[in-house]
Amino acid sequence: MTFCELAVEHIPLIPSKRLWRGATAALLLAALGPVFPGSSARGEDEISAECRKSAAFLAPVDGANGRHYAPELEVRMLHLALDVTPDFKARSVKGQVTLRFKALRQPVRELRLDAVKLTVTSVTATEKLQGWQATDENIILTFAEPLKPDQEASVTVTYHAEPKAGLYFRTPEQGYKPGDTHLFSQGEESEARHWYPCFDAPNVKFTSELTCHVPAGMTVVSNGRLVGENKDPSGDLTAIHWSQEQPHANYLITLVAGYLSKLEAKHGRVPLAFYTPASEAREAVTSFRHTEDIMAFFEKEIGVAYPWAKYDQLCVNDFVAGGMENTSATTLTDSTLFTEATENLHDSDSLVAHEMAHQWFGDLVTCKDWCHTWLNEGFATYYEALYRGHSKGHDDLLLEFYQSSRQIISVADDNNAIVRRVYGQPRELFSYLAYPKGSWVLRMLRADLGDDLFRRCIKTYLERFRYGSVGTEDLRGVIEELSGRSFDQFFDQWVYHAHHPELEASYSWDEGARLAKVNIKQTQKLSDNVLLFRVPLSVRFKGPFGVANRVMKVWQTEETFSFPLDSAPENVRLDPDCELLAKINFTVPNAMLLAQLADAQDVLGRLMAVEQLARRQDKEALAKLKQALAQDSFYAVRTEAANGLRSIHSDEALAALLESVHQPDARVRNQVLMALGGFYTDAAFTAERESLDQEKNPAIVANAIRNLGAYFRPGVREILLKYLDSESYQNALADAAIGAMRTQGDPDYVAPLLKNLERRERAFTAHGFGQALGTLAWLARDQEKKDEVREFLLRYVNHQRRILQVASINALGALGDPKAIPALETFASAGKENVAQGPAERAVAQLRANRKSAEEPRSLRQELLDLQKSNRDLRKDLDDLKKKVEARPAKPAAPTNSTPPPPQKPKGLVPVKSL
Ligand SMILES: [Zn+2]
Repeated sequence: MTFCELAVEHIPLIPSKRLWRGATAALLLAALGPVFPGSSARGEDEISAECRKSAAFLAPVDGANGRHYAPELEVRMLHLALDVTPDFKARSVKGQVTLRFKALRQPVRELRLDAVKLTVTSVTATEKLQGWQATDENIILTFAEPLKPDQEASVTVTYHAEPKAGLYFRTPEQGYKPGDTHLFSQGEESEARHWYPCFDAPNVKFTSELTCHVPAGMTVVSNGRLVGENKDPSGDLTAIHWSQEQPHANYLITLVAGYLSKLEAKHGRVPLAFYTPASEAREAVTSFRHTEDIMAFFEKEIGVAYPWAKYDQLCVNDFVAGGMENTSATTLTDSTLFTEATENLHDSDSLVAHEMAHQWFGDLVTCKDWCHTWLNEGFATYYEALYRGHSKGHDDLLLEFYQSSRQIISVADDNNAIVRRVYGQPRELFSYLAYPKGSWVLRMLRADLGDDLFRRCIKTYLERFRYGSVGTEDLRGVIEELSGRSFDQFFDQWVYHAHHPELEASYSWDEGARLAKVNIKQTQKLSDNVLLFRVPLSVRFKGPFGVANRVMKVWQTEETFSFPLDSAPENVRLDPDCELLAKINFTVPNAMLLAQLADAQDVLGRLMAVEQLARRQDKEALAKLKQALAQDSFYAVRTEAANGLRSIHSDEALAALLESVHQPDARVRNQVLMALGGFYTDAAFTAERESLDQEKNPAIVANAIRNLGAYFRPGVREILLKYLDSESYQNALADAAIGAMRTQGDPDYVAPLLKNLERRERAFTAHGFGQALGTLAWLARDQEKKDEVREFLLRYVNHQRRILQVASINALGALGDPKAIPALETFASAGKENVAQGPAERAVAQLRANRKSAEEPRSLRQELLDLQKSNRDLRKDLDDLKKKVEARPAKPAAPTNSTPPPPQKPKGLVPVKSL
């Protein structure tokens, strides 16, 4: 699974599409910390209590101290048959489920199904029932006679559900486009129980089938093979029947139904399809285009054929995550769709590759409980990276691991092991530890084993446990068996303990002995959770003697390693192939730094050299960065050089950036523009403005618009108002204009923004509109009269699109109008299962706190705003005056000594950033 910013029904306000990327881990953990409203999530105490109750079928052996283990099984689940009829208007579903199973070792008297708040109308079974009861969490069946070990039986439950989680409707009543009506399910980790009764644990695997009855014209997609379509006897609905004939886990069962457009392709015997809501079909091809190539690459790399009957990918509106790897039918957020015009700034390859890799890792073999989530997520992240290397080249692969290592080592309080049994909610385990750090564990294993043995280990692991459930020890067992070596220590330090080595490195050359000496100190703080590491650290020397690669076995707190060489090396690189997850502090002497920057074979060396140069402010650094920006062959070195020039922030640095505004690679061009945004000068402003006229890439134009927010100059307001009303894909340019208005902090934007939001709501994405509501409140927060804005925001507090509901509640908190308190209190006092409750509680607290304290800062701020406004008026007067002067007819013969009108640079006008 990948997470996304639209996950409001699932996780409150997550800021980036791929959660651990672009977000600090602290943010990630903060986002994952609370109990998740609307899901079956419960507090730690409640989990333990519930688990102790579940004695009959799934008897989790969660012990004291919140430790979690895979549930014990008393029956073997064989098959699930689900038949559902959704009611799109009522956003409910009626259904019938039949579960077939066999008793295991013990006689089974009682069976407990997972079922949250379902209205059960009947329960029948092949064996005589003494009775049944439906609670808020379970359906409990009691057999008249205990089922004997190995005895097969089945139960059938007929029910009705109005699911608050697990199944999501997207209908016109909720503000979605009428022609796009659809629904989708989301099972991971344990949400399926909200819309059908089941055995909901990852270590329970079974075959399944699903029939869904929908109106004519609607598509239904589920797992496995399409069995058939039949008109219902009533003639109103069509029953579409799918069958998953290989065992899989309950959380991977999927249903997507609605008005969908479809693209098709084929990889060998495997049919491929890509679906979008009907109105979004035009952009589907861009996201779908590499699916075949990705599957071909994975089959070759993994060595195991794609294991399911077909592969569908389905984009849905406001998905609750970024993507979800249901067996043979992945669900994706529609925010992954993009236009060709954005060049290489957007693509869906990483998301498509990640979810497809799960079809092997997570789906074919599944972590047996969520403690081992990294066996799903770490593998998917790793193979996604391998595809990047395959499609974009080895340098991009290195860059991927370099960047992800930087993210991991920047996490504060990195004190948890990848596998841990103490946690509150399973969702907490879906963090940077499972994703990039899990991926890094595999990279280090591969570096140790070599490509061939690593591949054989992975193939054996998949084949041995296919259609089964695994723990970390199963993987370790295979590796030890095939390598003949012990990997206890490797897994102990990397998977069962926390953190990574922090290494202080220094280098010296002993000319007399002709020895290169490298001193390494391990400086990480040791604790019960963090060990002294035993790791191999590669070092590469380059010089007149050629290239010498050596490996240091770093085991101690401090060690010095000596290497005989013919002459002093010109270049010393630690971990040159980026194969060790470690924080390495190694400042390279200047001569070596320049050699590193000039090394055409060493992309990461050049990147690190640019980073080191950017910390200097001297002329040599500037010249080298300028050269790198203009000439380096790898885009990431050029983008880093642009960042470096921004941080040097001199006139020369600005000039170097201005010379590079026409870089052919969109990623570099974009970065140059972003770097220019850090210079508040006429030249930078002109460049930003020119890019609005000349740039064709809408993603770069959007950034130029955002950058204008920092400038209070003539014309900026008009430009922002123009883009506010503009039409663009996913409303990206209007979003950018609103972002710039927020930076300006000028309440004069309140009226046009409010008008725009009232008029153009449907042009926005849900995320964009939510952001706009926040900006509106932010801009209006110091206004005397807030009635109009407050009333507008209050229109959304009951909105059926949860993201808008939560955004409006947050915005009311930011607006600071105490008159909103009574309305917000109705949500604040709602139950915890109400998604609005938490945000409303915070908004009310914010309003109460504001009421007490706002007076003095407000008057100060008002003065600043007045000053800002008078500056703008003055500028306008000057412009008008100039126009009038220029418009005057020239006096042909009159000689004049007058100087030309002054340039548009009146003194006293300084850019005012956000207040
Ligand atoms: Zn995933």
